[in-house]
Amino acid sequence: MPALPPLATEAIHAFIVGFIVLNVIIGMVTYVTLLERKFAARMQSRIGPYRVGPHGLLQPIADALKLMMKEDVVPRQADRRVYNLAPIVFLVPCMLIFATLPFAPGLGVADLNIGILFFLAVSAMEIVGLFMGGWGSNNKYALISAMRAVNQIISYDLPFIFVALIPVVLTGSLRLSDIAAAQAGMPFVLWAPYWLPLGPLAFLAYIVTTLAAENRVPFDILEAESELIAGFRVEYSGMKFALIQLGEYAHVIGTSFLGALLFLGAWSGPWSDTSAGWGATWFLLKAMFVFLLVTWIRWSFVRIRVDQILAISWKLLLPASLVLLMATGLVVAHYPTKTRVYPDRYRGLLALTYDKETGEENCIGCRLCEYICPPQVIKVEMLKAEKRNFAKTFTLELYACEFCELCVQVCPTDAIIMMKSFDMSTADRREMLLDKDRLHDIGLKFEPSWATGNLLRDMQTPPKAPKAGGPAE
Ligand code: SF4
Ligand code: SF4
Repeated sequence: MPALPPLATEAIHAFIVGFIVLNVIIGMVTYVTLLERKFAARMQSRIGPYRVGPHGLLQPIADALKLMMKEDVVPRQADRRVYNLAPIVFLVPCMLIFATLPFAPGLGVADLNIGILFFLAVSAMEIVGLFMGGWGSNNKYALISAMRAVNQIISYDLPFIFVALIPVVLTGSLRLSDIAAAQAGMPFVLWAPYWLPLGPLAFLAYIVTTLAAENRVPFDILEAESELIAGFRVEYSGMKFALIQLGEYAHVIGTSFLGALLFLGAWSGPWSDTSAGWGATWFLLKAMFVFLLVTWIRWSFVRIRVDQILAISWKLLLPASLVLLMATGLVVAHYPTKTRVYPDRYRGLLALTYDKETGEENCIGCRLCEYICPPQVIKVEMLKAEKRNFAKTFTLELYACEFCELCVQVCPTDAIIMMKSFDMSTADRREMLLDKDRLHDIGLKFEPSWATGNLLRDMQTPPKAPKAGGPAE
């Protein structure tokens, strides 16, 4: 049998992984409703669902069957096409947000390099389906609910995006797996530079914006029962209602996973580096913690008015999230937490070193670096002296250097080193012609622990006066 082309293999692999993830999400969403009902019941000293199956474990399945068997009623005055399409348009983005979530290292559908942008953009698309549902129902309660939804979601999406960008600034990457991996030592929720609790405040802001984005109490004016019955979905029943519910809970779970990834360290935890199973388990537990935190707030507070909701967003959350983002940028700019990975064969300035004990130049003028240098940009003139030899002149044409590091590797005395600093960037070629003094100055000027070489940390001390027998200038 002929082998499939690589593109087809990739497509089949993505389809299978996507199918598995979709079904896992649907199963999870179904049982998360039970978790929420049990949790809320416990908060209110009730038992919660208990009759269907042991401890009510089959209740979600019974609910799903009930919704499937219910009559599908379409209002006579409804815009049928918009009305019928709305649940699908609402559900698809809510499911798509899981596409870029890495559940453990290497475990996910697509680890995009713009993963977080994809998540934020697609997640905001739910608003279209929501408005279509309210508009197509031709019901004044549904329409008012949809307009409120647009108002609220736009107001809270801005602070939501600013807060979600804080881990991006800290990591220097939009890829979700990079953000998760960067928290291996410490989750961003604990990040407090100079005792400023930027991490905890950012996580708090994320939880508040999540509550609003999910239309949950105290921000649930979309479906305020006393005013709007069931809001934009008041005219929906049966499977269409089930699809909307499925989309809502999928969105809640997706943002819970995102919160756990951005602030709680995603899959990091005991044994997570040895097995993807453990990583996925930790991630799931953290996401469920975020979900239960949101649920706890939902069942503890009362609904607030529309004007109060908008005031919280525009007057408090938006400025606060902007200040947090700018403060994060300032701290990161001064003290980068991310170590730049340098390519193997390209670093920075070349420099000459001194001997720590004697203060003498380490270069013995052996000219090995001159011979090995491929573009022949080094010129050395040896000065023979009584006890040892020196370099009488040493010039390096940096503008033609290939940064191959061969001169560093061949030098028998570690006299020439390569710094990981690019601070001497200039457009003037004359400044790139380095003589011995300038090469020594560079060696003293920059942090020696950055440089390549073997004995460097012992070499970068200010020079002492050369002993008798040193180079004659
Ligand atoms: S880094 Fe390579 S090209 Fe540059 S001076 Fe050294 S040997 Fe020559
Ligand atoms: S820098 Fe090293 S290799 Fe080059 S001349 Fe000096 S001692 Fe020899």
